[in-house]
This record gives sequence, C-alpha cells and structure tokens, in this order.
Amino acid sequence: MTNLYRLLPSVDSLLSDLSSDVNYQAMPRAFIRDLINDFLVLCREEIRSGAITTENDLNPTRFRAKLGAYLKTHSRPHFRRVINATGVVIHTNLGRSILNKKAAEAVWEACLHYSNLEFSLDTGKRGSRYSHVEELLCRITGAEAGLVVNNNASAVLIILDTLAKGKEVIVSRGQLVEIGGSFRIPDVMAKSGAHLKEVGATNRTHIHDYEGAIGPDTGALLKVHTSNFRIIGFHREVSLKELVEIGNRQGIPVIEDMGSGNFFDFDAHGYHFMPEPTVQRVVKDGVSVVSFSGDKLLGGPQAGIIVGKREYISQIKKNPMNRAIRIDKMTLAALESTLRLYLDSELAMREVPTLRMITMKAEDLKKAAGKLKSLIKRNVKSAVKLDIFQSQSRVGGGAFPEQDLPTYLVGIKSEQMNSEELKDRLLKTDPPLIGRIENEVFCLDPRTVSSEEFSMVCDALSQAMET
Ligand SMILES: *Cc1c(COP(=O)(O)O)cnc(C)c1O
Repeated sequence: MTNLYRLLPSVDSLLSDLSSDVNYQAMPRAFIRDLINDFLVLCREEIRSGAITTENDLNPTRFRAKLGAYLKTHSRPHFRRVINATGVVIHTNLGRSILNKKAAEAVWEACLHYSNLEFSLDTGKRGSRYSHVEELLCRITGAEAGLVVNNNASAVLIILDTLAKGKEVIVSRGQLVEIGGSFRIPDVMAKSGAHLKEVGATNRTHIHDYEGAIGPDTGALLKVHTSNFRIIGFHREVSLKELVEIGNRQGIPVIEDMGSGNFFDFDAHGYHFMPEPTVQRVVKDGVSVVSFSGDKLLGGPQAGIIVGKREYISQIKKNPMNRAIRIDKMTLAALESTLRLYLDSELAMREVPTLRMITMKAEDLKKAAGKLKSLIKRNVKSAVKLDIFQSQSRVGGGAFPEQDLPTYLVGIKSEQMNSEELKDRLLKTDPPLIGRIENEVFCLDPRTVSSEEFSMVCDALSQAMET
C-alpha cells in the first residue's frame, strides 16, 4: 500500500511537466497548482478505498491522461453552452429564450462601449434608461406608458407595492398558483405589504364574488395567468373585461400578471393554438397595469415588462424599489432590438428564435430529423440503432401549457448501454447534449436544435458512446 502512495508524483514535478503544455500556459499557475493538489488528494483517497490497486493503475501515461481530464473538467467555465434537444422551446432550466442575432450584437456594442444609457442626446443632460424602450412598448401594445425591470417576479412585486401596499388585493382562489422556481402569488403579495383577499372557489369564481369582497380597504383587483396549471371541467373565471368593468365602477385599478406575455397573434398567422390573449388584447380590454416576462414567448432577454395607464405607470416609476430591481444596460440593448422586430410581425416570426421554433412546420421537422439521422449514421461509428418517429414538442415557460406541437424525433439506441445511461453520459460531453427519453428510447427533437449544431450532436454522441 505505502508503495502506491510513494508512486504518486510530486506537485512540483507535475507543474513543471505541464508548463510546456500549451493548454495550460494561459491558466494562472497558482490555480493549476491547487487543482493538481486536489487531484492528488483524490488519488490518495482512491488508493485508500481500493479503486487504485496496482502499480499499472499509476503508470505515467494513464496517470497523465487522468490528470489531463481532471484539469479540463475543473478549469473550464462552469456556466456553459448546452445543446437543447428536448423540444421544449422555452426551457427555464436551459436559459429560456435564446436571442436573435441583432439582439446579441446590440449586447456586444453595449458592453464594449460607452452608451447613452442615462444621457439625453437631445439636451446633453441626464436622461432616463427607460426612455429607450417605452415608446416602442407603447407603439406595439397600444398602452399609454411602460417601464421595464429585472424580471416579471419583480414587476409583480413593484406593482403591488406601489398600488396596494397596506391595502387588500382581491384574487380568485383558482389563480393562487405556484409557478416553477417557487414564485407564489401569496408570498409575493406578503413581501409587497399588500393583503391577499381570496374570493371564489378553486374551480369557480363569479362577478358577485369580486363585488362582494370590495370594501374601503380594497387597493386592486388582480388577475394571474395560471401558467402550467389548468382547471378543466366544471369551472368559471371572471374575464379581464368583466374585471375592468367592476374596477371602473368602483374606481379600483385592475392588475394582470400575464406570465408569458405575447405580442404575436398566432391565430392570425394560421396557428390555431389554444386561446391565449396577446398583450395588445389585454391593453385594449382596459387593464390598468399588466406585467410579463421578456424571455418567455417574447423571445428576448430576462426582463419584467410593465405597461398600462399613464397614471399608474408614473407612480411605479417613482417607487424607490425601482432602483433595486432595475434592468441593466446589456439587457436593455437586447430588449430594444427584440422589440424592434415586433414592429413587423412577419419579421418577428422569422427572426425571433422562440417564435421561429414554435411555428416550425411538421414536414420541415421531418426533413430535419432525416438529415440529423443520416449524419449520425455516417459519423457515429459505435453501434447505434436509429429511428424516426412522430411525437410532440412543447412551448414551455408556462405558455400554451396544453398545446402539443407535432414533431419528428430521432431515436437512438446503443448496444452497450440503456437509454438512461446514454442520457447521463451525454451530460458529460462537450458541449453537453440534453435530450429526452420516450418509450425507453433516448430521443432528439430537431425543433430546438439548429442545423449548425448537428455536427456537434454527432460529436457528443461519439464522445458518449466511445468512452
Ligand atoms: C413566469 C411567470 C412569472 C415569473 O416571471 P419571471 O420573469 O421568471 O420572474 C410570474 N408570473 C407568472 C404567471 C409566470 O408565468
């Protein structure tokens, strides 16, 4: 046993070996030294536990390869690109929407150069960071005013804090949902200092429920998009229009948390999905203030967008909390470019990746699956059985939760391992490839994989199956 410990090279000798290796020359020496130390601790642990038993386990070639792999995995960025082959377009765990090229270029400009972020080029004096997108938001949605904050959760928080702090906010019991990542309306409400007043039953809420709950302490009526939760069967919700009528009669603002706000009228473009109102519709129906995410159906960067009536928006702008949840310049740059695409809905459909992926046609997906399959067949030497079959993709992000999007998957079977093992191994490839298992077969959905990524998919499969 002691012999094996003695065979481990010293940190210094390993460091000097590596000093001529180009892969490590750009890395801080102290950091490599730390990693080597950690690696040697691991080796001693393996000798103790019996994972390393013979001198041969420690022969220089093997040892160097093992160290190389260790250094590679521990020195690369932790936050990395992955390939999303799940077919879930707005995948919250994989970064939600990806940006269009113009938006990415705008981010590049904004971060490498100075900008007029809070500087008016008209007056040469201090300007407002919100001015860059407010006009666009109004033009697209028809609202009187708007502002943007860090994300939709903070948008809901500041709206409630501004309009209903210390007052009651009336919400239907059917809308008190938890959205992924533990965003719960009752919790957000408590933080804002507004008091939740629940009305109706889980499945049914009526106009008279709201009317009966209104009193001198009522600050607002709130409607919440239930996102990935649906009540089916015997149920009734009060529409926004009806809420606005009640609000107008009583002089109470009506707030809507739309979740995944959408500017694009899918129906008008021939995509007959389950009914989801657009932001334009909600504004037209007279909402006082509505908020939604920038990185869900909109296909932009993470942001919380608030639009509505000027009197309420100007109060929100003055709330000191605004400073704590403000949007940063890179996000603002990406958001403005993305919003500009929506001035022409055809352009938005072509250029916004999220919309492009959602509106892909089944016949094009079938072709893409065929192309991917033959590329894999040609390039991945290990034994694989490939199939194409029909299935469904998902929009994700709580939008159109029940909507199936017809697609074609490439199913991959390995002779050496089952689908779970293949799936796990693909998490370790470079870049990682995230797929899904359907009927015990590991599958790739071409809806969320661009054709430029196909060769990377083949590489990842080779890496996973040949190690
Ligand atoms: C997604 C969602 C949120 C949270 O939005 P973020 O932009 O992630 O902060 C809030 N409310 C609803 C209804 C949602 O769907």
